[in-house]
Amino acid sequence: MMKARVIYWFRTDLRLHDSPALKAALDLQPEVLWPIFTWDPHYVYHVKASPNRWQYMARLDCQQDLSDSIQKLNPKSKLFVLREAPQTLFPKLFAAWNVTHLVFERDTDTYARERDKFVTDAAQKAGVKVVTRYGRTLWDSDEVVAKNGGKPTMSITQLQAAGSKVGEIPKPIPAPQHLPDPGEMPIDFEQEVAAKTVDLNAPHRSKADKAYKGIAGPKGDFAVETLEELGFPAATTPHRGGETLALKQLEKIMADEKYAATFRKPKTSPAAFEPQSTTLLSPHMHFGALSPRLFYWRAREVVEKYGKGASTPPESLTGQLLFRDMYFAAQAAIGSPYKQTINNAYVRFIPWHLPSKYEDTETGVSAISGKYHIDSPQAEKWFQRWQAGMTGFPFVDALMRQLRVEGWIHHLGRHMVACFLTRGGCYVHWERGADVFEELLIDHEPASNAGNWQWLSCTAFFSQYFRCYSPVAFGQKWDKNGDFIRRWVPELEHLDAKYIYEPWKATQAALDRAGVRVEGDGLGDNQKKGVYPQVMFDFQERRGICISAMKRAFSIGLHGNDEAVKDGTWKKL
Ligand code: FAD
Repeated sequence: MMKARVIYWFRTDLRLHDSPALKAALDLQPEVLWPIFTWDPHYVYHVKASPNRWQYMARLDCQQDLSDSIQKLNPKSKLFVLREAPQTLFPKLFAAWNVTHLVFERDTDTYARERDKFVTDAAQKAGVKVVTRYGRTLWDSDEVVAKNGGKPTMSITQLQAAGSKVGEIPKPIPAPQHLPDPGEMPIDFEQEVAAKTVDLNAPHRSKADKAYKGIAGPKGDFAVETLEELGFPAATTPHRGGETLALKQLEKIMADEKYAATFRKPKTSPAAFEPQSTTLLSPHMHFGALSPRLFYWRAREVVEKYGKGASTPPESLTGQLLFRDMYFAAQAAIGSPYKQTINNAYVRFIPWHLPSKYEDTETGVSAISGKYHIDSPQAEKWFQRWQAGMTGFPFVDALMRQLRVEGWIHHLGRHMVACFLTRGGCYVHWERGADVFEELLIDHEPASNAGNWQWLSCTAFFSQYFRCYSPVAFGQKWDKNGDFIRRWVPELEHLDAKYIYEPWKATQAALDRAGVRVEGDGLGDNQKKGVYPQVMFDFQERRGICISAMKRAFSIGLHGNDEAVKDGTWKKL
């Protein structure tokens, strides 16, 4: 019988430890195994990702670290990065490399599922067996959905009940000790420039097109790509990725037994920096450099050893991972409408301000005016100021600036800015905010991002819309002196603590002492050194307007899949 010739397709599982799919590939006892990563134009050109996220994944970080680890196990092997879309590449590789098996970790993301189905069909046509395993979550999300009656998990209790029916969370599998040699890698077939397979206007695209030097990269050695090759400018985040770092970070956290065993999320400060108050393991898990099951079992061991006084889900560390699984299983059940309102039966329809991007779309939903809303250009401006960190509310601005520079902010900081943009201030559509997070977060995870935005905007998962975060009192609760603001909003560095959350209340003498002027809207030419923008609205007033608008929307009770939403007749209600 012919020995197995296996392609192991790495995607968001950039690790060797606890990889059920990699184990399945090795169980085939392959004659040759090619560890490959394909340069998927969907991610390179389509998804708006910041250079920070690419640095995390690409050279020196997740991919390079994995490649080095593979080489340590077998000097003839490494992570071979092929610069072409998987949909066009695989059918050619199957024939050219005489492949018998394609193995990969399953994904619940909609794009990934469509892509994987396409590649699986092509494999079957080529007589190549496809082997997949789950490994991105604690439980297999599809099994959780099945045990939840085929429905999405919309609460942590539903997730826990369905998960316990699936069974005990599997214990992590050790990393392999050896990897087979890769086979020959002829690429004398017609190659397709990755960027040419999609018609998109990503700003870095033409640079990347020019940099494209063929499927094997500039040196012809299938090396991990550089930011330059991708057409990106340098990254600004101090956070770095890769399995080696992720495992070290996990062990450091678990070594502090008191911290790990008594972790209570609501007690961690969003204003803490260097070090932050939570684990910052999310980007490692997004790229699969850290297995969630290893994290879970290490946390459970520490809790069991600690005994009395240890925290429990949902506030504990293991509880945090359950939230992650809840969103993945919700995404797996809902499919493509999960990330949006339209056609989503589980998301409440709220007639938000719909700034320009959403006007006159094919859905028929357009910008609104009327009783509960001021005009759309105003909301558009609020949105622009929010994303630039120029709202005039220093705590919101500090968080948004940290997000832009570092690509990560604390969970409660995300609560603050998401509530402020949507139901607790600007009344702007949550999808608009989710788009900004998608671009800037280094841990951007489609399931977690959309789900948490729905939670914070009270469109799904959570409904207590009368509970709003104050951009003044919430920050003060954690950081009276405003050190976090001083770090991220240097214009206000020397302002008295009394005014640091509310510079609009500062006396002229206090502003002069601090060397700051408060004027303008902070956009365009107005961005000047030593000038901080004027506050963009009266928060208490906006809070009241938003709450009554939410109350009315809840009483009408439309969801994204209702006909009235799709055909626009909701406007008459
Ligand atoms: P810890 O507090 O140390 O938690 C440990 C792990 O549990 C995290 O690494 C993460 O994987 C998981 N986790 C914790 N809380 C959540 C949660 N609410 N939802 C899902 N997983 C959770 N998380 C992402 O991983 N990607 C996203 O794109 C994302 N977008 C978000 C958008 C908004 C508006 C909000 C409010 C939250 C979002 N989160 C997202 C969830 C959460 O904020 C981050 O997972 C967390 O802040 C990451 O920091 P950490 O690793 O220090 O978390």
